[in-house]
Amino acid sequence: MQDFVKLLGLKHRREVAGKSAIFNGEHFVLEETDWYLLNLFRLWWHYGISFLRLQMWVEEVMEKFMRIYKYQAHGYAFSSLEELLHSLGGEAFINMTQRSVAESLLEAGVTQRFVDDVIAAVLRSSYGQSMLLVPAFAGAMSLAGAQGNTWAVEGGNKLVCSGLLKLTKANVVNARVTSVSLHSAEGKPLYQVRYEDEQGQDSGFYDMVVIAAPLHHGKSTLTFENFDPPIPELLGSFQPTVTSVVHGYLNSSYFGFPDPKLFPFASILTTDTPNLFFNAMDNICPVNISSSFRRKQPQEPAVWRVLSQRPLDKQQLKTLFRSYYSVQVTEWEAYPYYDSAKTLPPIVLHDNLFYLSGVEWVASSVEMISMAAKNVALLAYNRWYQDLEKIDQKDLMHKVKTEL
Ligand SMILES: Cc1cc2nc3c(=O)[nH]c(=O)nc-3n(C[C@H](O)[C@H](O)[C@H](O)COP(=O)(O)OP(=O)(O)OC[C@H]3O[C@@H](n4cnc5c(N)ncnc54)[C@H](O)[C@@H]3O)c2cc1C
Repeated sequence: MQDFVKLLGLKHRREVAGKSAIFNGEHFVLEETDWYLLNLFRLWWHYGISFLRLQMWVEEVMEKFMRIYKYQAHGYAFSSLEELLHSLGGEAFINMTQRSVAESLLEAGVTQRFVDDVIAAVLRSSYGQSMLLVPAFAGAMSLAGAQGNTWAVEGGNKLVCSGLLKLTKANVVNARVTSVSLHSAEGKPLYQVRYEDEQGQDSGFYDMVVIAAPLHHGKSTLTFENFDPPIPELLGSFQPTVTSVVHGYLNSSYFGFPDPKLFPFASILTTDTPNLFFNAMDNICPVNISSSFRRKQPQEPAVWRVLSQRPLDKQQLKTLFRSYYSVQVTEWEAYPYYDSAKTLPPIVLHDNLFYLSGVEWVASSVEMISMAAKNVALLAYNRWYQDLEKIDQKDLMHKVKTEL
């Protein structure tokens, strides 16, 4: 994503400082302060060296994960998610998609209290589900993001997508794909893609097709025709996540601050507490931040984004906000529900028919999908030109070191 931002001449959005805290439904279990050393001291006081162990665990995973950028720079690709993970971190990385982040962290010496207070809160905010379900690999990605080095694009992240489309001069057909059927031409497969829009139905023939939307059972209406054996149905379900963007006055009393002026937090995470009706909320900033921009004072009306598993009812909105001007609700089928499928989806569905979105079952983020998209592009290219030495190679770390 960094490369795309550079290539398109875009900029990172300016950071606006804001403190976070973790709420357990009754009080804050951890509060960030303005002082770095005090934050460290608090972490140490509450949780011993757990946060250092967490940091070492995350860094080890990220260091290995980042090998992918080197492999891709040398044109190497992988035909399955298992091969990709194995080349980065061996069997351990594959195991990290099968066992929970909580289990892995406890094994790495992180205490149960730290897991219950801090890890649970980060995962409820990023994946809307319990750390007992989220696999260790997805957990590591999300915990790496929680260390404060994430960024957004000035003007909105969507500028990356629109900029790339323009740059590639892609011919975009704005329509819903309904089916892909297999034909052949001179012994080579040819795929007919049918689509529909308000004007009606149409289709086109393609040498290669990449499906970049979830195909999982119940989620997709796209069908595959003429394939023998048929394209298997992918099992698994998705975790609903509701975002409510509320413009209003925060009810700071609910969080134990009767005087709204004294409420210091811009981001509130929550622990896995039964009956706690929201996962996280944060005071959001516009996509363009001018030099004079400042966060609203806590007693002023501000725009908050609340993440919850179900739409908030009136009573719940009243609990979080003293009063509000507007609420915009979006219900997402956000991320895989991680307990529901244990095998990773395939990348190659047929000779030149590829599936991209399966990588979300390893971890769901814009960076992951970009990395997987580059893998599919390299894979399709290498297969097309029969450059098989660039596919599923073993011992790549050694190979890329010795290649010029
Ligand atoms: C609430 C929420 C917050 C998130 N926050 C973050 C974050 O902070 N950082 C981060 O890195 N990631 C975040 N993610 C995850 C991130 O959005 C996804 O990983 C990413 O969007 C996946 O990109 P994609 O292109 O694979 O899929 P999508 O962005 O889902 O795009 C798929 C596209 O395919 C289209 N489509 C579907 N079916 C068809 C069809 N039959 N025909 C034609 N088009 C079709 C869809 O309309 C959609 O436009 C968040 C996700 C959610 C839901």
